[in-house]
Amino acid sequence: QNTALSNQTKRWQEMDAAHHLHPFTTHKDLATKGARVITHAEGVYLYDSEGKRMLDGMAGLWCVQVGYGREELAQAGYKALKELSYYNNFFQTTNQYAAELSDKLAEVCPKGIDRFFFANSGSEGNDSAVKIIRYYWNLMGKPDKKTIIARKKSYHGVTLAAASLSGLTHLHPQADLPLPGFVHVECPDWFAEGGDMTPEEYGLKAAHSLEEKILELGADNVAAFVAEPVQGAGGLIIPPKGYWEEIQRICRKYDVLLHIDEVICGFGRTGQWFGSDTFGIEPDMINMAKGLSSGYQPLAAVGLGKRVGDVIFNSDEEWSHGFTYSGHPVACAVALANLEVIQKEKLVEKAGGATGAYFQKKLAELADHPLVGETRGVGLLGAIELVKDRKTRAKFDSATDAGTRCRNHCFSNGLVMRAIGDTMVLSPPLTITESEMDNLFGLARHCLDLTA
Ligand code: PLP
Repeated sequence: QNTALSNQTKRWQEMDAAHHLHPFTTHKDLATKGARVITHAEGVYLYDSEGKRMLDGMAGLWCVQVGYGREELAQAGYKALKELSYYNNFFQTTNQYAAELSDKLAEVCPKGIDRFFFANSGSEGNDSAVKIIRYYWNLMGKPDKKTIIARKKSYHGVTLAAASLSGLTHLHPQADLPLPGFVHVECPDWFAEGGDMTPEEYGLKAAHSLEEKILELGADNVAAFVAEPVQGAGGLIIPPKGYWEEIQRICRKYDVLLHIDEVICGFGRTGQWFGSDTFGIEPDMINMAKGLSSGYQPLAAVGLGKRVGDVIFNSDEEWSHGFTYSGHPVACAVALANLEVIQKEKLVEKAGGATGAYFQKKLAELADHPLVGETRGVGLLGAIELVKDRKTRAKFDSATDAGTRCRNHCFSNGLVMRAIGDTMVLSPPLTITESEMDNLFGLARHCLDLTA
């Protein structure tokens, strides 16, 4: 442990190492190194318990669209806590905030998505979506249509069904996943897999792997295709032109539902309200979380289009699903205040306009760095590929740990940039200013120099 740390920080680290099981953490390392204790945050900056300031290039976990410490959201939460700290939405009951948020979402969601089920996390949203998909086909009298196809390198969360949807293979072995009925096809990861093909050719090849899988399984057995518009945690994989058109043609041809996971791409991240808007996708259903409340409260929502929504809303039987906290009044009130800030400050328009353009310009400037094989991005998402050979796109031997070293240099120098293998990823708050972006990309270049 670092003996220069304050006694208070050391106490927190000791309590934490002894008693706190963290998400996605190697606990043996925690016991020796101690966790970084983040104590407060303001705008785009995080502060740790030693007073160190860090520019958060990841908006938490891709979620803090409106920046940290917003008074409007705190006040909305406080008001709702005083008014209706809790009541459930079971058994023909609702609350004013859940009703208003459903109505608001119907206004901003991709065309036709206008009925919403609330959950508390992106994983619960996808788990609920899987149950909705199964229920839909049961109600339609096609109980054999059950297999769900997702993609390699996708991330849809960690509950049993969400982790089974996820194609990142390291999520599977510890819990003997995926469950039966979940299969994975190729994704358009041109940089890693595309070889001599153009990105467009490789995108079509990846799309056709969906058609091949449907034909192999038999269309009568396939319920849905589930995908993120841009794959986030799999390394920011941005589909080329033509990919989504072909995927939608295939889904329509074989009567396969299209469930789009907007957990990262929603709420302005890609420069329009939803990734579906940016990439011309017309989903049957979507899942959203993160930017829905900017992470100020745990909240997710599954949105249904007419096709699925009508069948479930017109069923005579009770839908046997829902969480104690589905449509929690405080979470919904905070989400409403968050959407109001997003609209009032035109954050979606800015991500698709001047802010996004400046971010992409600064990102592209890093492409000349000797360590960088490619930069790519859309809206306020960006990736920097660290490579051994810029010409062949050959990656480093994993033992060089280039991504981890770069991320650690970033931490030491006051920048949070995530490493997914050797892909460095950025997803800052949508409120980020030009001078904050100058700071971000200046630090990023300095840390690339230190990593080289
Ligand atoms: N879906 C996508 C696309 C995600 O990126 C994530 C989380 O990063 C999830 C689902 C899971 O969300 P949660 O961590 O809130 O369960």
